[in-house]
Amino acid sequence: MPRKQITWIKQKAPYEGLSDCMICTSHRSNNYGYPQITANGKVTSISRLVCQRFNPDMGELHSLHSCDNRSCINPDHIRPGTRLENLADKSARGRAAKGEGLPQSKLTEEQALQIYNSTESFRETAKSFGVALSTVYYIKIRRNWKHIHASI
Ligand SMILES: [Zn+2]
Repeated sequence: MPRKQITWIKQKAPYEGLSDCMICTSHRSNNYGYPQITANGKVTSISRLVCQRFNPDMGELHSLHSCDNRSCINPDHIRPGTRLENLADKSARGRAAKGEGLPQSKLTEEQALQIYNSTESFRETAKSFGVALSTVYYIKIRRNWKHIHASI
């Protein structure tokens, strides 16, 4: 990536300490909702550019958003991955979203902590707490209930 681009990303996206989504407002989005930029004469998405900057060896991998927010350019929310991982992510998120409205998925912080510390398999844990497998998964990988991890 040319120096100019790197400088641009540094200036436009000072990201340290930011855990929230950084919404790109300086560039127009393409039809898929990804803000785009012209780099080296090629139109590319800014999220991809950011991903490449922080993962120089990503090659042809896709840049995946962990936050589902296509206009987000927070490097912490974008990681390289395969198309398959992308689809798996999407379907896991879909299942998690569906579970949110169900009464049995309402967990207390204590329960979330118990799930996090559970040594049972994901499936067994989900069963004993009456929650979706994806809920357990997200707690385990620290995607949900981030605030409880500060005390771990
Ligand atoms: Zn984000």
